[in-house]
Amino acid sequence: MTAATPPATLYPSVSSFGGTQPLRPDLVRVRLPMVNAFLLGAPGQPWVLVDAGMPGTAGLIRRAARAVHGERPPELIVLTHGHLDHVGALRALLEEWPVPVYVHELERPHVTGKAPYPFPDPTVGGVMSALSPAFLPGPFDFRPQVRVLPPDGSVPGAPGWRWLHTPGHTSGHVSLWREADRTLVAGDAFVTTRQETASGALLNAVTQVRRPPAYYTPNWEAAAASVRALAALTPSLAATGHGHPMEGEVLRAELSALAAEFRAQGLPERGWYLSHPVPVHAARPGEPDPVRTLVLGALGALGAAWLLRRSTRG
Ligand SMILES: [Zn+2]
Ligand SMILES: [Zn+2]
Repeated sequence: MTAATPPATLYPSVSSFGGTQPLRPDLVRVRLPMVNAFLLGAPGQPWVLVDAGMPGTAGLIRRAARAVHGERPPELIVLTHGHLDHVGALRALLEEWPVPVYVHELERPHVTGKAPYPFPDPTVGGVMSALSPAFLPGPFDFRPQVRVLPPDGSVPGAPGWRWLHTPGHTSGHVSLWREADRTLVAGDAFVTTRQETASGALLNAVTQVRRPPAYYTPNWEAAAASVRALAALTPSLAATGHGHPMEGEVLRAELSALAAEFRAQGLPERGWYLSHPVPVHAARPGEPDPVRTLVLGALGALGAAWLLRRSTRG
């Protein structure tokens, strides 16, 4: 598989955080540290914010929104899922824009204070994975604004778009799809950068269709099925939660290769969740989380050993 050229030749490039990159007349990427958000809707029309960035980036999102939509607030916000890097600025944004926040019903426990996400697995490889225990798994609580996406597949506030349940990375992960121009907002169902590495996460160094971020994916079978379902749509443009947008034949070829060869190309070489998948389900409060116990136990043991060494040296 060859790495695609960054799509700077396809779209006006965006190099700075908070910069906007028009992908369609009514779809704009907002490049943020570590992650992307998207503005759905033509300028002058009602619009929808998709995802809400890392903590501390509300100002960047607001500035980007103002550049495209002026002072008009979004009608609502849709979350592809509720991981910290997609909801980090949400609370600050809701203070200025007290609008509904739509999620899949299986995502609701994680964004209404009920249950944290399965703990990230720092052993899957890459610097970002090693640091992933610092990416808090919640639970986050955005009540009273949280709403469940309508069961008919429509996306409130965004006519022409459908939401597709694409679980695996999280139980209630959704992607947004517009058949008319085969446009896909994929969230983290697949991404276009090596999110597990620092250069991939921060610089989007290489643009290439990749599996969902591995440290935070607790069900690989479901993740593979979601990639296959999205590849079968043959999207002409994919805007992903991480990495540069991709389009055309390169996108189709790499996405169908990942779908066909998920075992070889998609699965991490190691990781707890490979052999202990978390079922796609509505998480309940107080469910046991062995990875949390293992990781925090190991960190605690390291800390105790360090303290012991310090005290015996002195
Ligand atoms: Zn995620
Ligand atoms: Zn993400």
